[in-house]
Amino acid sequence: MEAICLKSLGIKNDLRLAARNFNPGGTIIPLGGVEIGGKEKVIIAGPCAVESREQLLETAGEVKKAGAKILRGGAFKPRSSPYSFQGLGIDGLKILQETGSETGLLTVTEVIDTRDVELVSRYVDILQLGSRSMQNFQLLLEVGKLDKPVLLKRGISSTIEEWLLAAEYIMSAGNHKVILCERGIRTFEPLTRNTLDLNAIPLIKKLSHLPVFVDPSHGTGIRDLVPSMGKAALVAGADGLMVEVHGEPSCALSDGHQSLLPEEFAEFMEQLERFQDIFMM
Ligand code: PEP
Ligand code: MN
Repeated sequence: MEAICLKSLGIKNDLRLAARNFNPGGTIIPLGGVEIGGKEKVIIAGPCAVESREQLLETAGEVKKAGAKILRGGAFKPRSSPYSFQGLGIDGLKILQETGSETGLLTVTEVIDTRDVELVSRYVDILQLGSRSMQNFQLLLEVGKLDKPVLLKRGISSTIEEWLLAAEYIMSAGNHKVILCERGIRTFEPLTRNTLDLNAIPLIKKLSHLPVFVDPSHGTGIRDLVPSMGKAALVAGADGLMVEVHGEPSCALSDGHQSLLPEEFAEFMEQLERFQDIFMM
C-alpha cells in the first residue's frame, strides 16, 4: 500500500503509531491459533452479558459449533440505567474463563474501571473497551500497559479521528495489539439503536494498519438487521464481527432484542461461508 498523507484525508492530529504508514502491510495479531487481521474473518459471538454458567456454556457450545472463534460475555456491564442488571462481576469473569477453557474458545470481556484492569486481564484473552469508555484516557493508558489485545469500540458520538487517537493512547503506553470495533454512532435516526457507520471501515483501512471489527448487534439494535449488516461489514473490508447471541432472547438480562438465536447465528455463519470469495475481494 502506498504512503498515505493523513492531512489530505482530513486528519488534523499526529497519529504516530496508529497510522497506516507505521505498518503499511497491516497488523496481524496472532492469538491462540487465530490471526486477528489475517486472511480469515474472525467471528466473536456470545451473549451481551454472562448471566449464569449454564447459559454461557450452552451458548458457547452453539457458537463454537457454528464456527465462532472467540466467546464474548460481559461481566461488568455499563448500563444506561443504574437500576438495570450490572453484570455478575468477578463471578462472571470466572464463568467466562471456565467456559473458554471447556470449549476451547478464546474469550473477550469489557473492563470499565482502571482498578479492574489487572483482575480482568487474568481471566480473559482480550479486553474490551466499550463505547462509553473510549475517551476514558486513564483506562486507555492502563490497558496500554498490558501484553494482551484490546478491542477498542468506537465512542457513541466519536469521530473516526477521536477513535484513532484513543487507539494511539493505548499504543503510546506500549500495547500495540489494538483491534478497532465499529459499533454504530448516534445520529438523528430513531428507528435503529445506532447508525452503523460502514464508511469507517474502508476509511480506517486507508488511515490505519490496525485490524477493524464491526458489531452489527449494537450497530442496529434490531435482531433481523444483524445478518445483513454483518455481511455488509465484511464486504466493506472488516476483519471480523462481534455478534450477540442468546438462547432465550426474550428473557435476556440485557440486549435480547438485538441478540440472534443460536440457530439464526448458525444460519448466518453458513451464509458467511458461502460469501467467502466476495469478502476476499
Ligand atoms: C457490549 O458489547 O455489550 C457493549 C456494551 O457495547 P458498546 O460499548 O458498543 O455499547
Ligand atoms: Mn450488549
